[in-house]
Amino acid sequence: MAEMIDPFGRAVNYLRVSVTDRCDFRCVYCMSEDMAFLPKAEVLSLEELDRVCSAFVRRGVKKLRMTGGEPLVRRNIMSLFRNLSRHLDSGALEELTLTTNGSQLGRFAHELADLGVRRVNVSLDTLDAHKFVAITRWGKFAKVMEGLQAAKDAGLAVKINAVALKGVNDDEFDHMITWCGEEGFDLTFIEVMPMGDIGGENRFDQYLPLSQLRRNLERNWTLQDIDHRTGGPARYVRVRETGGRVGFITPLTHNFCESCNRVRLTCTGTLYMCLGQEDAADLRTPLRLSESDNILDEAISEAIARKPKGHDFIIDRGNDGPAVSRHMSVTGG
Ligand code: SAM
Ligand code: SF4
Repeated sequence: MAEMIDPFGRAVNYLRVSVTDRCDFRCVYCMSEDMAFLPKAEVLSLEELDRVCSAFVRRGVKKLRMTGGEPLVRRNIMSLFRNLSRHLDSGALEELTLTTNGSQLGRFAHELADLGVRRVNVSLDTLDAHKFVAITRWGKFAKVMEGLQAAKDAGLAVKINAVALKGVNDDEFDHMITWCGEEGFDLTFIEVMPMGDIGGENRFDQYLPLSQLRRNLERNWTLQDIDHRTGGPARYVRVRETGGRVGFITPLTHNFCESCNRVRLTCTGTLYMCLGQEDAADLRTPLRLSESDNILDEAISEAIARKPKGHDFIIDRGNDGPAVSRHMSVTGG
């Protein structure tokens, strides 16, 4: 089966899958408090998700990341991990992983490790239990701490993802670097992106350019640029004082599209070829049209042929609405 090469010569070997749009948190930059979720009939079944992921693996995808919404709140999600782990066993897939808010890791970390998951990304923007509630609205800080401990006990490598929010968590970054150093976690800072209507919150107020964050960190830490790459847009430094790695994902201040190797599937089977563009391909119809994968494969080829060169996110005073109308929980970041 032909590999997926887009019109700009980029090989697509990474698929991110939002397995549900639902979540047990309501983070202020991600969702409004009264989100309307999709009716079940529109959402791909776990068997359909397995089929479409497997089609991508046949086409050269080496890395699969489950995300959401919160992937671990989808009922019976472990059966999807279990089925997909056959591609790790066969050697077709190099990595099966997930991005999670950590709330369910206490239940699932060991099973995930048993199924061949090696690393998890856990989103955590603050180490202050009160602030945690202010940011996630519905989250339970102690449960996330429990989940992180379970991940460590299970031998999973943990990367903490923190969205940098001006006036909210920007007084905590030094503490987070120290804590991650002690726990042996990598840490990545993410710029807030203008995606989806988030109710009354104002993006310009939240936006903190990471170039400024890095300059602030350099007052207290020695940051050494390193070559470490995880196949994604993060640029990493080593913190000399802790020995830990810190990454920066800067969709707004740095355009990283030239090396983009990924596409994103939503839980309804819509494929987004770029996080920052509206264009998408429906894979659910071809998936449901036939039990054979021929039509699906053709739809995938057509979609990859439309992968755009890049995105154009802007946040400024005159433009603090969403650059794309869908929420991050649709594509999972
Ligand atoms: N629920 C899981 C979690 O929080 O890790 C997975 C899905 S969540 C949408 C994936 C990542 O997107 C999280 O790290 C979250 O912080 C980030 N995110 C959500 N909305 C964002 C936004 N508007 N700008 C930047 N990052 C965002
Ligand atoms: Fe849920 Fe993750 Fe969005 Fe927070 S960032 S509301 S945990 S999907």
